[in-house]
Amino acid sequence: MTKQNSSRSLIRGFLESAERFPDRTALVVDGESLTYSSLRRLAGRIASAIAENGHTRSPLVAVWAHRSQTAYAGILGSLGAGKGYVPLNPKFPLERTCRMLALAGCTVLIVGRECLGQLSGLLGSADFPLTLILPEVFDLGEFLPSRPNHRFITAGQLPSGESFSSGEDSASASAYLLFTSGSTGVPKGVPINQGNVRSYVDYICRRYDVNEHDRFSQQFDLTFDLSAHDLFVCWERGACLYCVPEHSLMAPAKFIRDHQVTMWFSVPSVAGLLEKMRLLPPGCFPSLRCSLFCGEPLPAAYAASWQEAAPNSIVDNLYGPTEATIAITHYRWNSQKSPGECLNGIVPIGQMFEGQQFRITDSRGESVPIGEVGELCLSGSQVAAGYWNDPAKTRQQFVRLPGARERIWYRTGDLVQRDEAGNLCYLGRVDHQIKIRGYRVELQEIEAVLRHACGTEQVVSVPWPVNSGTAEGVVAFVSGVKGFDQARILANCGDVLPDYMVPKKIYLLDELPLNSNQKIDRGELRKLLLEGALA
Ligand code: AMP
Repeated sequence: MTKQNSSRSLIRGFLESAERFPDRTALVVDGESLTYSSLRRLAGRIASAIAENGHTRSPLVAVWAHRSQTAYAGILGSLGAGKGYVPLNPKFPLERTCRMLALAGCTVLIVGRECLGQLSGLLGSADFPLTLILPEVFDLGEFLPSRPNHRFITAGQLPSGESFSSGEDSASASAYLLFTSGSTGVPKGVPINQGNVRSYVDYICRRYDVNEHDRFSQQFDLTFDLSAHDLFVCWERGACLYCVPEHSLMAPAKFIRDHQVTMWFSVPSVAGLLEKMRLLPPGCFPSLRCSLFCGEPLPAAYAASWQEAAPNSIVDNLYGPTEATIAITHYRWNSQKSPGECLNGIVPIGQMFEGQQFRITDSRGESVPIGEVGELCLSGSQVAAGYWNDPAKTRQQFVRLPGARERIWYRTGDLVQRDEAGNLCYLGRVDHQIKIRGYRVELQEIEAVLRHACGTEQVVSVPWPVNSGTAEGVVAFVSGVKGFDQARILANCGDVLPDYMVPKKIYLLDELPLNSNQKIDRGELRKLLLEGALA
């Protein structure tokens, strides 16, 4: 890839498509279609509003919006003003959102109409002045009493001219900051720069030959980095983005057919659910030409059913952590060959993207011989430089490896093995990170909240139920809690954790079982759950 290309900004990709295809549809959301020129106009006015409030030195603008025009135009507007974006999710508890806003240090916040009901609460917790841009709200009167500390720019006050920052394209400029579950109990920020995403977008556009006739699904919440694939790969080539409405998220079969989607991207759990609901009959998705899965192990059975349902489509398993920008390995499903290449019924994660590097290491960081299990370490233009304002955590995960000290390696915590065909196969984790419907969850983060809510150190959480290797939720075990009140504890958890992290049930035991190392025996607890021995 040329140097010039690696520093080409994401907004440049969108603007060039808008130049080439002004009248093609760029976005379908909430029952409305926006052409490239109308989306560009809205994004340009938001970019102007950010620029006119240029007192912010922060490289980031927060976007608090969900499946609305404001969400997408807000992201483009932030990038158009030369800022990275920080997606915030109205489905998350307000306390978590406020924390992310403060950690990111944003002073400009773009707000969707769908968040207005929570706005007063957010401003009540923000102890620093904010500029709020509300592109779809004309009158704030009914939502807010006067807030002299903060500045509001409503739809009628948006500048009429569109302006996009003519700032230098630069690979090191911020693209986005995402927060993932943190083992210390505080969400962990992963800053991704323009160069990281540029490498990804260029590679994917070439691999899948994306063009202006493609119709992309937009299934992921914007707080999940896989959404960046949908937006930036789609707009890079003048294609159309179809935002899946909330009510179709877990059963999007009709949506795919109604919109004749050509490019599908989701976590495997969605395929599992469709299969369970018998919504994946052979040949039901003739429009699809690319079906991509990522975010959690892909069971072979799901890949096989999806391939039959989408006979004109390739089916690829992508793998990657947020720290390595969306995905960094791929494996193409082949109905004849692949069943024999799966390990434990799970599809291999395959080969590295061209130009990215990997090592499989033991606990000392030494490379293990081919065929042995070790931790996957990643390096290359897609890999972040470290965590947001967290040098200790950065030093722990972004390391130099013996024999490969010239570059920084990101230790993924994923256990893999290379098979004879050269494919990487995913085997599990070195730690207590799990996936729930594709969402990354550190069990320690749940346990930190439980400890606080229960007033005891004796807490542990276990993924449950687990189907085809994928967790559908967690349950917790506690002991030594005075006046155990499950409803109150769960309510406390719900105040700070997103719903998928809140335990489905809490069991009070006399004591937690210990293994021979005097550690809590999670295996024993799983056995109790399996045996149905708990009330
Ligand atoms: P996230 O940062 O939320 O994208 O989560 C990254 C983690 O999800 C990885 O470190 C893996 O543990 C898991 N993961 C992502 N894709 C796959 C896949 N295709 N197969 C198995 N695990 C995956």
